Amino acid sequence: MDLRGEASMEYKRKRILTGDRPTGRLHLGHYVGSLRNRLSLQDQYECFFIIADLHTLTTNPDKSNVSAIHENVFELLLDYLAVGIDPERSVIFLQSGIPETYELNLIFEMLVTVPRLERVPSLKDMAKIASLDSMPFGLLGYPVLQAADILLPRATLVPVGKDNEAHVEVTREIARRFNRLYGEVFPIPEALIGDVPSLVGIDGMAQMSKSRGNTIDLADDADTVRAKVMQMFTDPARVRADVPGRVEGNPVFIYHDVFNANQEQVAELKVRYREGKVGDVEVKQHLSQALNDFLDPIRERRAKFVSKASILEDILVAGTERMREEARETMSLVREAMGMYHLPR
Ligand code: ATP
Ligand code: MG
Repeated sequence: MDLRGEASMEYKRKRILTGDRPTGRLHLGHYVGSLRNRLSLQDQYECFFIIADLHTLTTNPDKSNVSAIHENVFELLLDYLAVGIDPERSVIFLQSGIPETYELNLIFEMLVTVPRLERVPSLKDMAKIASLDSMPFGLLGYPVLQAADILLPRATLVPVGKDNEAHVEVTREIARRFNRLYGEVFPIPEALIGDVPSLVGIDGMAQMSKSRGNTIDLADDADTVRAKVMQMFTDPARVRADVPGRVEGNPVFIYHDVFNANQEQVAELKVRYREGKVGDVEVKQHLSQALNDFLDPIRERRAKFVSKASILEDILVAGTERMREEARETMSLVREAMGMYHLPR
């Protein structure tokens, strides 16, 4: 059988791979950075969504962390289903359930240099946030493992937030290098950055991120959202409601722009804020309302799936089996292209 011919046919079918580490609940940053694109492309593309449990080991391999993965996997799956990822149309799978990932990762490790990986800016940040004194070998290899994830289903598009663009660039280089050395097996995938490339956290200091604890989670209830919005940073120079405030770069208005369905209200609030005619509390009350309106349908879908908990594992098992078929096919193309000797079965 001419597997290479089949592979090049495969390039013409558009595919997505993206996903998340099961390290906690998804937040608004994930929604605008990546989930929204996933949802809008579910019909046009064949989608593979990875729950990247192996990637959690790169920053924290402690046993306590490993034991938290199980619960986090199901929280993540619930978040996916809650936002509207449809397991009938899209494949949701568990990374560690695909042994071919480890195999392709090892092959790819030979196709990239240490200095190249040392130039990936997010890895140093991850090490710092995880309070690691020096860089673990596996964390340096984070983008290589991600390349194995992306290229196993031979994906062409990777919807991610801005901070992940540099990782997809490593994938592109590895795919090119492999194809040059051994023959055309892999497409050169492109990153698709969300409309909001990097959503700031409620602290207004840095990107919203699980490990910085500055998130509004998709599963937060209405009271939690209200309390978090009330704590949000606004214009630091504005000491009283009758002082003209700055709208630009003000996290409260950034969220209003992104999540408030009533943009007339936002425009009107901005005018009054700039004139010193509205207090932070009123602006925040409107924001809590807008966020809760946005989150309500997500919460309702989540609750429906929580009540059908027994089907969750089935969804994951079916998705992982489906991904394995792809992984096996890709690995036979890889071995054939490389001309590697292998033992008869
Ligand atoms: P961690 O703290 O473990 O890094 P995180 O909350 O930053 O978690 P990631 O797992 O790093 O989440 O990100 C998953 C995906 O969501 C990536 O594509 C990333 O670029 C995107 N993303 C995460 N946070 C944001 C954000 N604040 N704005 C836009 N995109 C984001
Ligand atoms: Mg991150």
